[in-house]
Amino acid sequence: MAQHFLLSAKARHLSIEQVVGLSDSAILALLKHARWFSDDEQICPRCHTRHSAYFIKTRQQWQCKHCQYRFSITTGTIFQYHKLSLRQILIAILLFTTESKGLSAISLSHKLNVQYKTAWVLLHKFREGLDKAKDLTPLKGEVHIDGAYTNYYIRPKNFRHKRIDRRKKRYQREDKSCVLVFRQRAANQAVMKGADRTIVALIKEENTQDILDLTQRLVKPQSTIYADENPAYDSLTFHYDLWRVNHSQEYCSIEGITNNLAESFFARLRRAITGIYHKMKNKYLMYYANEMAWREDNRRKSVKEKFEQLLNCCLNALPSRDFTGYWQGNKKGEAVFGLASLTETI
Ligand SMILES: [Zn+2]
Repeated sequence: MAQHFLLSAKARHLSIEQVVGLSDSAILALLKHARWFSDDEQICPRCHTRHSAYFIKTRQQWQCKHCQYRFSITTGTIFQYHKLSLRQILIAILLFTTESKGLSAISLSHKLNVQYKTAWVLLHKFREGLDKAKDLTPLKGEVHIDGAYTNYYIRPKNFRHKRIDRRKKRYQREDKSCVLVFRQRAANQAVMKGADRTIVALIKEENTQDILDLTQRLVKPQSTIYADENPAYDSLTFHYDLWRVNHSQEYCSIEGITNNLAESFFARLRRAITGIYHKMKNKYLMYYANEMAWREDNRRKSVKEKFEQLLNCCLNALPSRDFTGYWQGNKKGEAVFGLASLTETI
């Protein structure tokens, strides 16, 4: 049997030792490349002119030659107003990208020796960077769709006579919601086994209207769709080549129809919830689900590639609207559902 990708030398290429050992000028050079893809040219965050700005060495800032605006390497990026040193941010990015099921804020706070709050906000800024960079161009070919409920668990009471029938709608939690996933099978299975693109959305429950709207937005017409037996997917049959698998009867039908690309995504998401994050509030659920989608789609990239990709996303995302000044009272609005959930944070 072939060696698992994560065990191979190809998956590594970047160690924590290398990041810790970087000199200050090497860190600046690394960030300049990730942000502007250049050593000597910068883009002014105010007038957007690309040129070689005047570098003020003592302040580690540039001054624009056109509008005189002074900016640092993090001005106008998700890391604007950062409290941690650039080195700590790079270490956090490395730790975040090496995990396969996520990194909890408490764990990061111990590793960096910073407050829990600081680590929590930094991790959410990474997620926001990934979210703003996500690709929503429609999927094509073979696409698997499925929904998974979150925030549904109700702990049974100790005494039997106090227990409720947790299946009944009137007893269900108000914040129960559903993550809908769309996964596209890679065109060349020899290069990439399984899915190569994953898009997530948030809905209140699996219903015909939301599923139709989202599918028409995210999947090209004439694609082949695999879904389970839930009647909410019935209407897709008019627009797509729809195949079903009835999970109460079988996981793989006689014709070989499965919904496994979607199921394997949820396997990871569920393990991230039970094992790492423990709780995902609805208003942050899209960030977490999109993080898991990014981890899935980049599972065959080396740590170095993922590190560079995340750094690039964060340095090309505008300052965080939801997490800048979070602990000073700036809180994100409540969750939105359906089509709006795709673009809420972009
Ligand atoms: Zn300027």
